[in-house]
Amino acid sequence: MLAKVRFGPAGLPHPARSKGTVAGIEYCRRIGLGAMEVEFVHGVNMGQEAARQAGAAAKSQDVLLSCHAPYYINLCAKERAKRQASIGRIVDSARAAFWLSASPVVIHSGFYLGRSSEECSGEVFAAYEACLEQMRKLKIEGVALGAELTGRKSAYGSLEEIVALAEHFGLENVVPVIDFAHYHARHKRLATKQDYLEILDFVERRLGGDAGKNFHCHFSGIEAGKAGERRHLPVSCQSPPFAPLAQVWVENGWGGRLICESPLLENDAFALQEIYLKAACAR
Ligand SMILES: [Zn+2]
Repeated sequence: MLAKVRFGPAGLPHPARSKGTVAGIEYCRRIGLGAMEVEFVHGVNMGQEAARQAGAAAKSQDVLLSCHAPYYINLCAKERAKRQASIGRIVDSARAAFWLSASPVVIHSGFYLGRSSEECSGEVFAAYEACLEQMRKLKIEGVALGAELTGRKSAYGSLEEIVALAEHFGLENVVPVIDFAHYHARHKRLATKQDYLEILDFVERRLGGDAGKNFHCHFSGIEAGKAGERRHLPVSCQSPPFAPLAQVWVENGWGGRLICESPLLENDAFALQEIYLKAACAR
């Protein structure tokens, strides 16, 4: 049985926190994790040489890397200068991802600021187009943008919105990054296999079977209120439950990567991997 889903932490595992990206990659491999997301959430602070070194380490350790673009991004900001600065931050992240051989670059697209989805979509789609255009000019290849499903109802990034972006630009350019904790907080409380199956079916219907071959997702526990996400929690603490999702993946042959965003990072990534392997081995 070959495990089709890899697991890893969002950012450096705790024991490597002060030691840098290469140490983080090596630690992930040592404890049996095959993925890691490099966090640029407070800015892209990695030069070419360090990124290429980390990319080489990831290759030799067989750890697949992805990146998370800065939080300070709003592709549907009302001011053009803010949209341009956001595009710049995404392109900077994509360039670092290229040096790292990492993909996708996960993005929180922006905030409605009191407008409807339709009113914001024009700006958001134009901004993704501008990012891809600049990436082509810079010869950044093999890096997809990952439109994340966002947890707050005030943020652009519903399931429909991120799938529409991937549908428009193609999976080689934009992939939907489903954060199941965010879905749980924003759309519908996840509890059963059927709840997860509805999401997988929706994605496959719109994007085709390839969307399930190399999907990228986030998972954690979550505290949710009326406005959606409040904060991420350890996976053991509160829903959504992971076992039904693991079963649905195995039964439908889905493969890809799960990045764990719980405060327990690598520990919870490992715990989720155990649940997945149990489901996979039971087949
Ligand atoms: Zn995110």
